[in-house]
Amino acid sequence: MNYQCNYEKLLKSFNFDPVTHNFIFFIMAQNEDLFKKIISHAKEYGYIFPSSEIYDGLSAVYDYGQYGAELKNNIKQYWWSALVQLHENIVGIDSAIFMHPTVWKASGHVDAFNDPLIDNKDSKKRYRADILIEEHLDKLQDKIDKEAEKAAKRFGEKFDKELYLSTNPKIQEYKATIEEVKTKFVQALEANNLEAIRQIILDNEIACPVSGTRNWTEVRQFNLMFETKLGSVTDEASAIYLRPETAQGIFVNYLNVQKTGRMKIPFGIAQIGKAFRNEIVARQFIFRMREFEQMEMQFFVKPGEELEWFEYWKDKRMKWHMALGLGDQKYRFYKHDKLAHYANAAFDIQYEFPFGFKEVEGIHSRTDYDLSQHQKFSGKKIQYFDAEQNISYVPYVVETSIGVDRTFLMILSSAYTEEKLIKEDGSADERVVLKIPPALAPVKVAVLPLVKKDGLPEKAREILDDLKFDFNCQYDEKDSIGRRYRRQDAIGTPYCVTIDHETLEQNSVTIRERDSMEQIRVDISKLNSIIGEKVSMKNLLRKL
Ligand code: ATP
Repeated sequence: MNYQCNYEKLLKSFNFDPVTHNFIFFIMAQNEDLFKKIISHAKEYGYIFPSSEIYDGLSAVYDYGQYGAELKNNIKQYWWSALVQLHENIVGIDSAIFMHPTVWKASGHVDAFNDPLIDNKDSKKRYRADILIEEHLDKLQDKIDKEAEKAAKRFGEKFDKELYLSTNPKIQEYKATIEEVKTKFVQALEANNLEAIRQIILDNEIACPVSGTRNWTEVRQFNLMFETKLGSVTDEASAIYLRPETAQGIFVNYLNVQKTGRMKIPFGIAQIGKAFRNEIVARQFIFRMREFEQMEMQFFVKPGEELEWFEYWKDKRMKWHMALGLGDQKYRFYKHDKLAHYANAAFDIQYEFPFGFKEVEGIHSRTDYDLSQHQKFSGKKIQYFDAEQNISYVPYVVETSIGVDRTFLMILSSAYTEEKLIKEDGSADERVVLKIPPALAPVKVAVLPLVKKDGLPEKAREILDDLKFDFNCQYDEKDSIGRRYRRQDAIGTPYCVTIDHETLEQNSVTIRERDSMEQIRVDISKLNSIIGEKVSMKNLLRKL
C-alpha cells in the first residue's frame, strides 16, 4: 500500500533539521510507527506538504494541500461559530500581523519571550533545557504507570491502585524525585536562574538522546521573535517583529471594539490568525512550527470575577473538544506549576498524541497585566466605565488560546485507522480510513457512477449538480467501485453515493457510510436531508 513509504525518504522529504533527530529518537521509543504512517499519509493524500519541497523544504514550515486546507477551514469555522456565533457577548476581529514595535516592549515579549537553550558538545545538537527536564519528569511518571500496570496484572481483581500508589516504596521514591525536581525547576524558572536549570540536568544525569553523553554547554536564553524591517529605505527603516501571538492585536483594539460595539463587561474578542516563533527545536511535524496559526479569545471581566470566569471557560473549552468525539479519555487538564508573574491561574488542555499527552490549548487568567502595560506605554487611558456602579477600572482578562495546527494534528492522529477486512469471497483485505468527525471532513460526499456507460455518469452529474450547493462534493468514475471507496476512505469522505442501473429505473441510489461501510438504498429526493443531518456543523454546535 502506498502509505507504507520508505522511512529515510520520508524524513528527507520533510526536511527535519539536525536537531530534529532527537525528535526521531524520541518517537522511535514511543509510537514511532503510527506517527510515521500518519505523516506519510498526510503527504500522500494531499493534506500536508513540506514547504517549498522542490527546494528540499524549509525546516519546521509546512504547506496545507487541497484536503488539508479544507479541514483547517472547517476547524476554524467550528471554533469561530462556537465562540462568536453562539455568544452574544463575543465578537471577532482580524488584526494585522505587523504591529507597532512598542507593543512588544509593553507586552514583555522583547525582554522575556525567551526559551532556555542548551547544546550537547558531543552531538552538537541543540535542545530546550526546560523540555529536557519536562521529558525526564514524564519518563519518571511513565515508570510509575508501568509499575502500577505490572502490579495490576499480578494481583488481578484484588488490586487496589490507590493503595498501591500511596504505599509501594519504589513508587514513593519516584514520586519524591518528581516532586524534588519540580520544586527546583519552578524555583529556577522563577528566579530566571539558568545555572540552576543546568544543574538540574546534571544532577538528574539527563543525557543527550543522540550522543548519549552528558557533556552539556551553559544554558542561554534565546528570544523567539522574528525581526524584520519596515519601509524600503534602509536608513529610515525600523525594526519590527512578526507577531508571536495574536492576542496583542486584541488588547490594542480593546477600546475600539468596546466603544464601536457598545460592549458591556463581561465580553470577549476572538481572533484567528498567523503567529511566528523562531522555535529552538522545531519538531513533531506540525506540532511545533515556526509559522503557525492560533485561535485566541480574550474575555474581559470585572476584577475579582476572573477566577469564576476562568472555571467557566475551562469547562466550556473542554466541552468543545469532547463534542468532536475523539474520546474523552484522550484529554486531560494540566495545571501550570509555574505561573507567569502576571497570571493568577493557568491550565493546559492536553491531548494524547502518538508521542504522548501534549498541550493543544492554554487557558490563562492574565489579570489586568496586558491592558495596564499598554495603558502605561501608550499613555492612553484604557479603562471600562461601569455605568451601573459608577466606577472605572482596567478589566481583567481570561484567555483561551488554541493552535489550529495542533488541533489539526490531534484530529488527524485520532482519525488515522488501519483496518483488516474480510471480503465477500472470504479473502483478506485491508484499508486505511481517516475517521474525521463528519462535520469537519474536507469532502462530505463522493458521487460515483457504478460504470462509465449506460447514462450513469450523466445521472451522477445531475445529482452532483444539486448536492454541490450544500456540500463539498467529489465526482469519480475511474477504476472499480471498490478502489474508489478506498480512495474516499483514505481522505476521510463520510459518504459515497453510488449511481447504478436501478437509479435510472427507481430514482434511488445507495449511500455508503465511511466508518461502518454499511450501504442503504434511498430515494434521490432524500439524499440532501440524510447527508445534511449527519455532516451538519449545526448538530456539532448543538452539543456544546
Ligand atoms: P509550548 O509550551 O508547546 O511551546 P506555549 O505554551 O508556548 O506552547 P502558547 O503560547 O500558550 O503555547 O500558545 C497557545 C497555543 O498555540 C498552544 O496551545 C499551541 O496549540 C499553539 N502553539 C504555540 N506554539 C506553537 C508552535 N510553535 N507550533 C504550532 N502551534 C503552536
